[in-house]
Amino acid sequence: MKLYYLLIFFAISQIANSQPKVPQDYFENPLDVPLVLSGTFGELRSNHFHSGLDIKTQQREGLEVKSAAPGHVSRIKIQHYGYGKALYIQHPNGYTTVYGHLQSFSPEIEAFVKKQQYINESYEIELFPEAGELQVESGELVAYSGNTGGSGGPHLHFEIRDGSQRPMNPKLFGIEIQDSRKPLIKGLFAYPMDEDSHVNHSAERQKIRLIPLKDGTYTTEKLNACGKIGFGISTVDQQDMASNQNGVYKIEANLNGDNVFQLNFDRFSFSETRHLNQLIDYEYYTNNRSRVQKLFVEESNPLSLYEDVQSEGRLDIQDSLDYNYTIKVTDFAGNESVIRVPIQGEFTESIQPKKLEETEYFVQADQSFSTEQNGIDVYIPKGSLYQDKYLDISFNGDIVNLHRDDTPIHQNITIGFDVSKYEPAEKEKMFIAKLGYGDRPSYSSTYKKGDRFTTGIRTFGKYTLASDNNAPWISPVNFSDGQWISNNSTLKVKISDDLSGIQSYRATVNGKFILMEYEYKDNMLTHDFSDGAVTETENNFKLIVTDNVGNTNTYEAKFFRK
Ligand SMILES: [Zn+2]
Repeated sequence: MKLYYLLIFFAISQIANSQPKVPQDYFENPLDVPLVLSGTFGELRSNHFHSGLDIKTQQREGLEVKSAAPGHVSRIKIQHYGYGKALYIQHPNGYTTVYGHLQSFSPEIEAFVKKQQYINESYEIELFPEAGELQVESGELVAYSGNTGGSGGPHLHFEIRDGSQRPMNPKLFGIEIQDSRKPLIKGLFAYPMDEDSHVNHSAERQKIRLIPLKDGTYTTEKLNACGKIGFGISTVDQQDMASNQNGVYKIEANLNGDNVFQLNFDRFSFSETRHLNQLIDYEYYTNNRSRVQKLFVEESNPLSLYEDVQSEGRLDIQDSLDYNYTIKVTDFAGNESVIRVPIQGEFTESIQPKKLEETEYFVQADQSFSTEQNGIDVYIPKGSLYQDKYLDISFNGDIVNLHRDDTPIHQNITIGFDVSKYEPAEKEKMFIAKLGYGDRPSYSSTYKKGDRFTTGIRTFGKYTLASDNNAPWISPVNFSDGQWISNNSTLKVKISDDLSGIQSYRATVNGKFILMEYEYKDNMLTHDFSDGAVTETENNFKLIVTDNVGNTNTYEAKFFRK
C-alpha cells in the first residue's frame, strides 16, 4: 500500500516537474469579456505552431484591450499582413506579452505611433520605445481589439514570451478556460516504416477504424503487423461555449505499459516552428486537408516539444508476440481521450513493397543540388528538404515543373530564369509566377538583375514567367472630385491590382504626405481626418499606387472641408 502511494506521489511530482515553473496569477485576462478561444497555444497551422491564444471578441472589433500586467511598451509593429497592428509589453519579471490584430491603440500610444508614421511617411512601421517612454499599469487600457493583418475574423491574438522571446503556453500562468469536453479523435493511422515491415499485410499507410467503447475510450480491431511501425493521430480539442476545433495540450503513447512517446505544448522557439511540417504527415495534409500528427520522430526533426521519447516512438513488432499500444490525448484542463490498439506480431512473406518513385533527380537533404535546362536553373540548398528524396523535375519551354506541393520545403529553393531573349520593354513588365489551380499565375517575389530573374520558393509546383501590363485600379469610396466633405471623419479609397499585386501606395494633400491605413482584406485605404494632417479648406488629393512590376496609377481629386 505504501509503495502504491509512493508511486502515485512520484507520478504526480513528475507531471508537475515536466511543466516549466512560472508565476501563477501574475497575468490578467487582457479583455473584459470571458475567455473563449478560437485558437489554442501550439495549435497546428500552416507551416507553424500557433504561438498564443486567439481570444474571441464576440464577433466585433473595438473591445478594450488591457495590459495583462505592469510593464512598458517595448515594441510596436504595424504590418499589412502577419499580426497587423501589434503591441509588445515587457514586464519587470522578464516576460513579454504580445497583443495582435489590433484595431487601434490607446490615445497615448496612438499619438506616439502616428507621430512616427508621419515622420517615416509609412503606415507599416516598427518601433522600440525606451523603458521610460510608455509605462503601463496592470489592467490599463492599451489598445482596442480588431481584425488587422492575417486575421480571419475579429479576435485578439495574445502571447506570453519568455526572456528569450520563446512563446509559452499562456495557460501555464494560471489563465483558465472553461473546458469540460474531451479531445476529439478524428482519425488514427499506422505506418509501416521498414522495407519488410507491414500493417495488416500492407506496406502502405493504413487508416485504422476506431471502435468507441461504453466507458468513453476507443479501441481498434486487432492489427496484424511486423517490423518497425509507427502511428499517427488526427485530433482536436473543443472547449465549452465555442464550437472551434482547437489544438490539444499533450499526446502520449505507451507500449505494454512503458512510455514510448510524449509531446507537450508548453513552449517552443520561432526558429523551430516550421519543423511542424515533419511532425505532421504533410503529404496526407496536402491531399486531404487534415493534419495527422506522427507519434514517432523523424530523424531530422529537432522540435523541443518532444519529451520522453523511446526509440523515436517507433515500435519493433516481432513475430508471434502480442502488444498493447495505448494513445492518450489530453487537453489543458486535463480531459483525456484514450485509444487502445491491440497488435498481433505476425511475420508474412509476400508483402507488396511500398511504391517508390525513382526519377533522375535524387536530392539528399544534407547536400545542395542544382540543375538547369531551357535557361531555367534550380538551386536547392542543403537543408531545404527534410528527407532524401527523388524529385520529379521537368522543363517545358518557359515552365519548370518542380515536383509536387505535397512535399514540404524547409528553406528557400532558388529558381532563376534567363530572360535575354526578351525586349527590354517586355522584361520590365515580367515577373516569376507560380501557376496554381487552372494555371492561374500568382506573383512570386522576383529579383531582377540584368538578364537574370530569380525567386525564392517554399512550395513545390509549376513556375514560369508572366507579364503584368495593367496599372493598379483606384476608386474613391466616400467622396468624389470637387465635393464638400466637411462631415466625413475619414477619406476612403479602394485599390487593387489584377496580377502582380500592390507594391506601394502614397497619398498627399496639397503636396503634403497624409497617412492612409491599408487593409488588404477589403482592398481599402483609409485616412483619418482626426490626424490633423488636412488643415485647408480647398484640398488637392493625390494618390499614387504602384504594382510589383512598376505599373503606376495616379488618382487626383479636389475636396473641400471646413
Ligand atoms: Zn493567433
